[in-house]
Amino acid sequence: LFASIEMAPRDPILGITEAYNADKNPNKSNLGVGVYYDDNGKVPLLECVRKAEALLMEKPAARSYLPIDGLAAYDKAVQELVFGADSKVIQEKRAVTAQALGGTGGLKLGADFLKRFSPNSQVWISDPSWENHRALFESAGFVVNNYPYYDAATKGVNFEGMIGSLKTIPAGSIVVLHACCHNPTGADLTDAQWKEVIQVVTERGLIPFLDMAYQGFGDGIAEDGKVVRQFAEAGGPVFISNSFSKSFSLYGERVGALSIVAVTADEAARVLSQLKRVIRTNYSNPPTHGGQVVATVLSTPELRKLWEDELAGMRVRIREMREAFVNKLKEKAPDHNFDFVTKQRGMFSYSGLTKPQVDKLRDEYAIYAVDTGRICVAALNTRNIDYVIDAIAKVIK
Ligand code: PMP
Repeated sequence: LFASIEMAPRDPILGITEAYNADKNPNKSNLGVGVYYDDNGKVPLLECVRKAEALLMEKPAARSYLPIDGLAAYDKAVQELVFGADSKVIQEKRAVTAQALGGTGGLKLGADFLKRFSPNSQVWISDPSWENHRALFESAGFVVNNYPYYDAATKGVNFEGMIGSLKTIPAGSIVVLHACCHNPTGADLTDAQWKEVIQVVTERGLIPFLDMAYQGFGDGIAEDGKVVRQFAEAGGPVFISNSFSKSFSLYGERVGALSIVAVTADEAARVLSQLKRVIRTNYSNPPTHGGQVVATVLSTPELRKLWEDELAGMRVRIREMREAFVNKLKEKAPDHNFDFVTKQRGMFSYSGLTKPQVDKLRDEYAIYAVDTGRICVAALNTRNIDYVIDAIAKVIK
């Protein structure tokens, strides 16, 4: 059985971290990660999480199975966060939400559901996209295509290309869209561009699948959720996977969800019943701890406020690092313009660094980035930024 099995390729991003860990240079910096680090270069344990865990431990509970679709209080809190507490789709019972194993789990549940009920659809993802989108939808059995997205010349979105592509792909196609903070580029659509996308997707009968892994990292919780709401108001069907890995710094607890907006409440009830079958045959039901922590924080006013403040702190720190990055490079490399970095949103920047420059940063300065030039701005801090900027200025000379 195993004799003819070939070694699978290494995960490109995790491979960077392995090489970084083995590096002995005391100045080494890992900008290849997809994780928020605080100014001390550590993954934070949020105070709201610590307090929610303390509250939960005051009344330790037995760990029976959760319902197939997860903790009811969690699903309700997620819906209100994603669609807004006053959302019509919630009032009209047109939205269903199931707890999932992180954002990845939400995407996979949606992909498996779609393969059952729309087996001949093809999937369209942005070029480039989060590196797992293609593999995830392919492993659910779909053919995956790209729509144009990033324009290297302008360091922004190739909107003409994107909308042109959405206007030609067949009705019933599944279109994966980053609701905010595009990974890997950091380049998001403007409000006017989103309006056009929603119109084309709705008129042409495409199936939108919104991936929202960074709510709160762009402009704010409600601001970043705006696109989800606009799609929901457009009528449905809409698929939304969201993740708390980053916004709660709960990477290892695997907390996320899949929400589906149906056209009627009756449809929604049938959709949920089928979604539960997908879950049941995958992992039966989700784990308790992360969902309880998030539900407790979101539904306890004092902890909710604390979370919003801590999330704002992460967002502001990333922005400060973007500004420092641009200003310091202006001094050290005045012939180059990096102003686009402050326009980008979320944890990442397509920095424009080429593969040979990325290689040089790694080999000569122990600074690790992704070959595409993607850097994690959230891995910069007040202690490593000068070293990183000096090195970048030297490699782009
Ligand atoms: N979608 C995107 C765009 C992401 O960047 C990530 C995480 N890197 C995910 C989904 C998956 O999130 P999670 O870690 O919660 O599974």
